[in-house]
Amino acid sequence: MVHVRLDYVWLDGYKPTPNLRTKAQVVLSDDFDGTLDTTPLWGFDGSSTHQAEGHDSDCILRPVRLYKNPLRDRGYFVLCDVQTRDGTVHSTNTRALINEAEAEQFWFGFEQEYVLMKSNGRPVGFPDGGYPEPQGPYYCAVGAHNVEARALIDEHFDLCLEAGIGLAGINSEVMLGQWEYQVFAKGALRAADDLIMARFLMYLLSENYDLIFNLDPKPISGDWNGSGLHSNFSYDYLRDVGGQKYVEALCEGFRPFHKDHIAVYGAGNELRLTGSHETASIDDFSFGASNRGASIRIPMFTTSHEWKGYLEDRRPASDADPYLIVDRIMKTVKISHADAIKAVG
Ligand code: ADP
Ligand code: MN
Ligand code: MN
Ligand code: MN
Repeated sequence: MVHVRLDYVWLDGYKPTPNLRTKAQVVLSDDFDGTLDTTPLWGFDGSSTHQAEGHDSDCILRPVRLYKNPLRDRGYFVLCDVQTRDGTVHSTNTRALINEAEAEQFWFGFEQEYVLMKSNGRPVGFPDGGYPEPQGPYYCAVGAHNVEARALIDEHFDLCLEAGIGLAGINSEVMLGQWEYQVFAKGALRAADDLIMARFLMYLLSENYDLIFNLDPKPISGDWNGSGLHSNFSYDYLRDVGGQKYVEALCEGFRPFHKDHIAVYGAGNELRLTGSHETASIDDFSFGASNRGASIRIPMFTTSHEWKGYLEDRRPASDADPYLIVDRIMKTVKISHADAIKAVG
């Protein structure tokens, strides 16, 4: 009989942006066989996470997905959603909004942009009290002083893959100290879960590098790019049938819901979606082929494959909740797809 360490991970109740929380417990291998079925429910003090009051503080951690912990010989990360003491869905539990069967029909690829900060609140690579050379050389760069903290980024990449997270790629970004990783899954719930766990692993590793994983959508004002969470999505019809008329009608169908999307696309996004720095204005909805100044970009992959492929919603901010994004996009597609089919005839 051996010990297995289970690190539970959940989202707290802070507003407008929840934080990740974690605590670990040991189980015995006789009781646990590496499946969700044998992963015990657990609890926590919700009065310390803005999820309960002190006089009735217990919340339930319900395991929803297991990941291998690549940092331990016998360890797992247990992604959980939160329930109230009587076993009902907690109001902060946005994951529960998603219909699993519907989400299975969607492929999602999230591009998580972020900035690594020093303890003085400046991006790594920025000189104390000043600024580096203007933007230009840093995107997809190589070489000392063109990129910073690659050791952390690469370690994160490797560990995500070992954990079973669908890390699809990485690149350095337009501002110095800014990076991106992409998370992809065939299944929207899986993609959103994997994004949360990729964030969790970056928070964890950043502790060893004395760098702060910063998801503020506009951490440095002025002529410096903000951070987004471009959300790429597709489903059978878009990938297999598509067509220019259909795709354009589908995008047009997103227009009336612009405000509903922005409402769940992250806090502080108004400082990022200005119309410059590869964004569209927060007040306007637009779409276009290969257009990085549009709300929705129709990627070259799609236009060059007879308009079959995927779409990129560029509006979500780096700090957005992926469950809310998935839920909103699925809702809009449901309506817009039906209208687009009628329009195409
Ligand atoms: P860019 O920086 O040019 O916008 P990236 O390569 O960073 O593009 O991100 C593209 C994302 O789109 C990746 O996460 C990729 O996995 C995802 N993707 C590719 N094909 C599809 C598809 N058919 N459905 C959903 N997402 C997709
Ligand atoms: Mn990208
Ligand atoms: Mn990017
Ligand atoms: Mn993108």
